[in-house]
Amino acid sequence: MTDELVNKINAVQSIFDQLDRAIASFQNETSLHCQWGCGKCCFKPDIEATVLEFLPFAHHLYQQGLAEAWLTKTSESDSAVCLILNPTQSGAGLCSQYAHRGLICRLFGYAARTNKYGEKELVTCSIIKTEQVDQIEKANEKIKLGLPVPVMHEYYMQLASIDFDLSRDFFPINAAIRKAIEKVLSYYAYR
Ligand code: SF4
Repeated sequence: MTDELVNKINAVQSIFDQLDRAIASFQNETSLHCQWGCGKCCFKPDIEATVLEFLPFAHHLYQQGLAEAWLTKTSESDSAVCLILNPTQSGAGLCSQYAHRGLICRLFGYAARTNKYGEKELVTCSIIKTEQVDQIEKANEKIKLGLPVPVMHEYYMQLASIDFDLSRDFFPINAAIRKAIEKVLSYYAYR
């Protein structure tokens, strides 16, 4: 039996790795940066994600023997705020699973959308917008002049090319995580 799900997870992870490199390069060129220890974007109660982008996290949980516990946690909680968030964590941010965060988590702050004129516009957080006004202005100028910037819908299209069904629908983030765990557990249950 081929490892179809694992192949998809590896393909998603490869997109994540490529995106992380693109964002690092964009940050390097623009000096845009998150405040140390911030993580405020993760407190938003309306973050939506696809199942596919949380398959790497779900698979990691399975490998660690934590998938069942997280399935219970995501099934029983009615929190609208991401359950991966650890508000008491010290460090660069508050994500307790930074290496396994989803696509939306990676894109937010350092990616662009395409406006109705076909121009790329940076989508970033209100704190960066308020505190890094000059850098934002310069970044948008550089983007107009051709500076490569990750474009959100292009990354979602890349996910769709891996698995259209698992990347088509957006769910509240904890539901997306739960569905990803269910997918991984059911895959291994029937192997
Ligand atoms: S997975 Fe991590 S980065 Fe994404 S919303 Fe949750 S806590 Fe924030």
